[in-house]
Amino acid sequence: MAYVIDPQPQPSVPVAGTEDRFPVRRIFCVGRNYAAHAREMGKDPDREPPFFFTKPADAVIENGATIPYPPETENFHYEAELVVAIGRGGVNIPESEALDHVWGYAAGNDLTRRDLQQTAKDMGRPWDWGKAFDNSAVIGPIHPVSATGHFPDGAIRLSVNGTVKQDADLSEMIWSTPEVIAILSRTMTLKPGDLIMTGTPAGVGALRPGDTVTVSIAGLPDLTTTIGDRA
Ligand code: MN
Repeated sequence: MAYVIDPQPQPSVPVAGTEDRFPVRRIFCVGRNYAAHAREMGKDPDREPPFFFTKPADAVIENGATIPYPPETENFHYEAELVVAIGRGGVNIPESEALDHVWGYAAGNDLTRRDLQQTAKDMGRPWDWGKAFDNSAVIGPIHPVSATGHFPDGAIRLSVNGTVKQDADLSEMIWSTPEVIAILSRTMTLKPGDLIMTGTPAGVGALRPGDTVTVSIAGLPDLTTTIGDRA
């Protein structure tokens, strides 16, 4: 057997402090997981069940990259998020065992074409064009749980050109990491290599060509991205 075209390389992100890499399977993202962000998006933050969207694995971008300002948007947003890296898969994972499935954590930036997302919401269409475009998943080096422990709380901040735009605490997540894993595993088979972007706090806003955006999560190194010219 031979592939009739070259298979794509396995998308991956670095593991902190080593030459090793974490292979990425799927990227699940939690929508509206901080009450203040739900309010700024015009939604009631009552504890309705969490919902998810996805990004393709090859949308991953590493720390320090310069990415082109994406096409077809005039409102390109940052979203600072804690990223959970799944090391052991499962279905119907109990909340009490969920953290045993986590290999590590990273800082992330869920880049969003907000205008295309809003159009999709208004027209009842899928979010993919607003969320799942090229270079849309900025993921920092993955830190193994064995080195950092888990992240039930701790500061999460984002700055643009040195000005703080998002400033919150991971404990403000409406749905905790164990709850997200348990709920997600009831509807999708989680597998090793899956990443979960756990949602962003309030303060989302626009990026422009030339901006430098930095995500800071207590216990993880800063994650920095520069926005280049329009693609
Ligand atoms: Mn997000």
